Amino acid sequence: MKRTENSASPLRLARLSSLRSRYLAATLALATLLTACALMMQQYISTVRSERTLSIEIRQQASQHSRRLREAVLEVEHTLNIYLSMPGAAQRHAVHQAADMARTRHQQLFALPWLHSPEQSEKFAPLALELQGLHSRLDHLMEEPPPSGTRPSPGSIFTTLRQQLQQLDQALEDSATDEVSFLQRASSNVIGSIWLLSLGVLMLMLLGFFLFQHYVLGPISLVSRALRDEAHGKRDLVLPLPATAETQHLVEAFTEMRRQVTERQQALEHQAMHDALTSLPNRILLQDRVQQAIHHLRRLGHGGLALLIMDLDGFKEINDTLGHPIGDGLLQQLADRLQREVRDSDTIARLGGDEFAVLLEQVDEAEARHMASRILHLLDQPFEVAGQSLYVSGSIGLALYPLHAHTPQELSRRADVAMYVAKREKTGITLYDPAQDHYTLQRLAQASDLRNAISNEHLLLHFQPQIDLHSGVFSGVEALLRWQHPQLGYISPDDFIPVAEQTGLIRHLTYWVLDQSLAHIAAWSHKGLAPGSIAVNLSAYNLQDADLTLEVARLLKKWGVQPWRLVLEITESSMMANPARALATLERLNDLGVQIAIDDFGTGYSSLSYLKRLPVDKLKIDKSFVMHMNEDDNDAMIVRSTIDLAHNLGLEVVAEGVESHEALELLRILDCDAAQGYFISRPLPAAVLEEWLTSSDYCQGHQDARGPDDAPEPDLPTTH
Ligand code: C2E
Ligand code: CA
Ligand code: CA
Repeated sequence: MKRTENSASPLRLARLSSLRSRYLAATLALATLLTACALMMQQYISTVRSERTLSIEIRQQASQHSRRLREAVLEVEHTLNIYLSMPGAAQRHAVHQAADMARTRHQQLFALPWLHSPEQSEKFAPLALELQGLHSRLDHLMEEPPPSGTRPSPGSIFTTLRQQLQQLDQALEDSATDEVSFLQRASSNVIGSIWLLSLGVLMLMLLGFFLFQHYVLGPISLVSRALRDEAHGKRDLVLPLPATAETQHLVEAFTEMRRQVTERQQALEHQAMHDALTSLPNRILLQDRVQQAIHHLRRLGHGGLALLIMDLDGFKEINDTLGHPIGDGLLQQLADRLQREVRDSDTIARLGGDEFAVLLEQVDEAEARHMASRILHLLDQPFEVAGQSLYVSGSIGLALYPLHAHTPQELSRRADVAMYVAKREKTGITLYDPAQDHYTLQRLAQASDLRNAISNEHLLLHFQPQIDLHSGVFSGVEALLRWQHPQLGYISPDDFIPVAEQTGLIRHLTYWVLDQSLAHIAAWSHKGLAPGSIAVNLSAYNLQDADLTLEVARLLKKWGVQPWRLVLEITESSMMANPARALATLERLNDLGVQIAIDDFGTGYSSLSYLKRLPVDKLKIDKSFVMHMNEDDNDAMIVRSTIDLAHNLGLEVVAEGVESHEALELLRILDCDAAQGYFISRPLPAAVLEEWLTSSDYCQGHQDARGPDDAPEPDLPTTH
């Protein structure tokens, strides 16, 4: 819809642009017209009334006078007849008196203006003459009998007079009839005017309705249609040029409302499709983009897509220990880095938590891998948040269309599986392989089952021996968790430890491992097996646990184990989350007298100079370097320099992942202090280890370096 421009100037307003003023003006005009008509009619009626009242009064007077005149004439005739039958002076006088009276009555009658109109005066002139001559004719009649002896007959005088009086009555009657017909005309005039007026008002009302329809109802129904259309998402209706202020306001209000609704709708759509923290597309939008990309490729008939899912390692520690604002800051910075790295045509999405996805269009496997490694390198530089330098690493899973999947859902599931494998195998980047599929099932099952595993005794410990390379004899074990799942079978700690960390079960789990490990050490000690030290792995979360030191102290006391026997293994990255707090925990543990080892050394970012500040006793070189050092000169160099530098810092060095005799020999040459690996022994169940301790060549005639414990023999809590 187009909005018609509003040009309401004061002038236009003055020219009755508003419906209200138009209505008022029309009402005023109509009222004036009606009042004028009413006044005119009133004027007309009152004129007619006053005129007619006057003429009726005059006529009444006239008929009164005419009656009296007739009576007077009758009196004259009567007195004359008396005189004629009985002539005498008295009778003659009575005749004269009656005649005088008749003349007076006549004068009174003719004094009325009505008889002065030319028409009437002409008509009644003979009567006047007759009456004027009455005296003389009477005198003539009453004279002494004429010599001829004949008197004129009195009847002839009065016949004429009576006729003329009758004429007068007739004139009066005619005038009354005229009056009636005049009044009839006047009343029909008034009635006609009233009809005319009613017709006029009716016409005006009709005109008013048409105007109302044109200016109000029409625009209103158009706006309501536009509203209905709007509700159904149609926007092609053109609203009319507003003709009056009110409809113009209505159209403006509607247009404004539509604009705001559109804005709000767009904001909601954006919200529904984007992640609030980073403003990146969310999972829903990503799926949509993948779908579109797939459609596009199908139309083209060639080309491929890659979906890359990255999950951060070590982020949860940062979030949990330094707080969400810091974690959020890191994620925002990562989102920025990602956006700078990829092409505009590629989509970056945040799937939730510390999981990101990148959709690469028109790429092959090599290009996708290249991009994945560039993205992983984005994590090399620390994130500077609130004055702290934070490191996280990441694992990336890759899945390709059409090689691995044909639908968006399938593609993201496969990338997820690959990511999970990358995390588990610490490969950094993994391309999807159908053989990996069973991992996802496991992962889903674990979270709920892990809670029950400890109480149901589905968890147990295996123990992997370590030997002292200087003496060549057994020196201790590392406790490694095992989970025998009733349905899924054996589950690797690499798979379920992250789940325990995510669900918060890790605290309870670590306490359980500590309790079991110390119980076994105490038991073996009492059996005279000289078990040496026992290493227990800690998670990053455990270092943030303020109760850990107390619990360790309690358990050492509970099992009567000397603190030196307990070695707590921590990884470099577990220190990263909240270094100050982790350091405080380590110092308290160190004060207890337990040993601390840095595990998987070489895979993290910490430098040896950083380690110097930590109360650390041992350093375990990661098996990834040890396993290949006989073939790979680089690995050998790393192992060698790590040993040298660690010794310079006064640290003992343990090599893990010793799988061959050659490796063991090389480590001995390199002056490594201790070794652990499949070549010496795989991790063993407790009972098998007991046997190993008595039968292995590494244990012939060996004794605990610092003598046996002196606590009473403990009762083992379980039989594992
Ligand atoms: P880790 O601490 O590095 O443990 C050593 C891992 O290397 C063990 O794997 C062990 O079986 C394996 N290993 C030992 N010698 C060799 C060898 O010669 N060659 C090869 N290829 N591997 C060798 P496992 O038992 O699967 O444990 C994996 C990881 O799970 C451990 O790595 C540790 O990080 C974690 N984990 C195990 N038990 C616990 C626990 O009780 N608590 C915590 N927090 N983590 C644990
Ligand atoms: Ca370890
Ligand atoms: Ca290790």
